Amino acid sequence: MTTTEKSEQHSFQAEIKELLHLLAHSLYQNREIAIRELVSNASDALDKLRHLALVRDNVEADGLEINIEPNKDDRLLVIRDNGLGMTHDDLINTLGTIARSGSLEFINQLSGDAATDVSLIGQFGVGFYSAFMLAETVEVVTRSYADESGWRWSSDGTGSFTIQAVDEPLERGTQVRLHLKQDLDEFTDGTRLKFILMKYSTFVPHPIRLDGEHINDQPPIWVEPKGSLNDEQYTSFYQYLTHHADDEPLWYLHLSADSPFQFHAILYCPPTNFEMIGLPRLEHGIHLCAKRILVQNDNRELLPEYLRFLHGLVDSSDLPLNVSREALQDNTVFRRMRKVLVKRVLDHIAKLAGKREEYSTFYGQFGRILREGVSGDFENRDRIAKLLRFPSSHAAGSDDLVSLDEYIERKPEDQKQIYFVGGMDRRSIEKNPALEVFRKRNLEVLYLPDPADEFVLVQLHTYEDLEIKSIDAVDVSLPGVDATDAQDSGDAESKPSAATAGFARVLGMFRDALGESVEDVRESERLTDSPVCLVNPQGGMSTQMQKILQLNTPEFQMSKLILEVNPQAALVKRLSELVANDDHHGFIRECGRQLYSNALVLAGIAPDGNEMASRVQNFMIEMAQNRSPIAT
Ligand code: ADP
Ligand code: MG
Repeated sequence: MTTTEKSEQHSFQAEIKELLHLLAHSLYQNREIAIRELVSNASDALDKLRHLALVRDNVEADGLEINIEPNKDDRLLVIRDNGLGMTHDDLINTLGTIARSGSLEFINQLSGDAATDVSLIGQFGVGFYSAFMLAETVEVVTRSYADESGWRWSSDGTGSFTIQAVDEPLERGTQVRLHLKQDLDEFTDGTRLKFILMKYSTFVPHPIRLDGEHINDQPPIWVEPKGSLNDEQYTSFYQYLTHHADDEPLWYLHLSADSPFQFHAILYCPPTNFEMIGLPRLEHGIHLCAKRILVQNDNRELLPEYLRFLHGLVDSSDLPLNVSREALQDNTVFRRMRKVLVKRVLDHIAKLAGKREEYSTFYGQFGRILREGVSGDFENRDRIAKLLRFPSSHAAGSDDLVSLDEYIERKPEDQKQIYFVGGMDRRSIEKNPALEVFRKRNLEVLYLPDPADEFVLVQLHTYEDLEIKSIDAVDVSLPGVDATDAQDSGDAESKPSAATAGFARVLGMFRDALGESVEDVRESERLTDSPVCLVNPQGGMSTQMQKILQLNTPEFQMSKLILEVNPQAALVKRLSELVANDDHHGFIRECGRQLYSNALVLAGIAPDGNEMASRVQNFMIEMAQNRSPIAT
């Protein structure tokens, strides 16, 4: 070319010199991203041309494509687009200065640590300059859609670049010609290039051809209108994303919005919760795209932990293409998008909750993850609470679960609390003496064999202004007597307000005998048949909860319990009579101790074994002595 006389030499901005030096010498670990950057620039140039064609009559935008042309012999890699191209001034302004302040910041933040710098590189969009990670010399040969002839920009990435006019005819668009460094032959290898392009650029919205082969022919289904897609297409995209060839998603959600920011998203709920079958905690990953270019394939910040079971892809043209994870979290659009996504997912799950059977399948798998949101997402706590389901005294089958709304709907109007009880399993829960009065009065109690459910309800604390209470809590309050069930009317006399004098003395003796081991001994209103039960004076944590804590932290001290005594129980009635005779006081005290031990056993707490065994043995001796060897 005879253009030397027309060649101009320009100096890079000082900052760019630093940046180029760094790119060429330190940031070698992640060279692949240079290809992504250049393909993304090519794609942008095509987008811009397409836009121009829309607004101007004299611009055509047919056959837009990106060509990747490796040449092994010349150790040359060309990335070519037929986009809008660059003028002489464009070249000086965009490929010679760092226009954005972000880039300057980037340089100021550079540490010696190449690993961190690699993550920073994307953050400040140094896109084009990453070409120098691969190339000794970079040439940009370009003709703008607005020009007749083109220009050649060239630099070895040290201090300066030259620009010269190109005399021969050029097609519209840009070629970035990378004269690869000595040891980087791999970037002319078709297989390697294909791998890189598939990894980062499959969903670029323009054809990418590698040596003529169209390699990104997977259509980006998320940008298509919902109505034009069928289940099969959604399923195959799901399989592509998750690498699960045979799975079908339980459900999917296809979202699109234009304002306040633009995004498309497809989210999938898988059929199985692998956490439940003993696999480690799910590591969800949302594919995050900006303008269809993959930015991260395992973004975990766009959805909260309690939605970690979802897979999918989110694409927005309002997100910066290259940002480090840390910076992305602070991005305003990102944060608002997260909010919108969470809302839409919860909307969808709420809708699903209307279909009992489908919801029970979903909840059976993922309820245990979803419920974490009660403590994890304060803002959406009420919405998540609505989605919870629990076993209950009033749910017939063991798989039958109730929502808090259903619970409220069928409770007596003057019931001011939502009752629950924890326990090992349904059978042992049903034996809890504290349940007696609830059963008698047909009050619904949520059964929580899963301690995590109990934890969730304790966190929730109230629902629709109703306090959520463990039935063994000291401050559990029952609806007024009028509200009792019809079948209860026969027992009306069974709740004397004042205890008999004898009963009061028995309570005193029990209190005396148990001393410091209980918080108090008092008359019970929650028992109908059993003589005693234990009540938790702690508002916050149920006995069941404390038991679990103690299992995990032996230092944990369980709070002292209250022993409630039922004056109507046959044994207690009898003791109340016996108390008149001083001779029986020792025996009554021993009964108090034994009843306490029994209550502990029923609550799943181990009493002092030695002490209890010797006491029971004494009772047995006494009974044996009262028996006669002579048959009557
Ligand atoms: P960004 O893409 O974020 O703007 P880059 O450093 O990647 O930053 O590119 C700088 C600028 O160079 C682009 O904004 C664009 O104006 C110009 N440019 C780069 N590559 C091309 C291309 N293939 N066609 C047209 N213009 C380009
Ligand atoms: Mg770019």
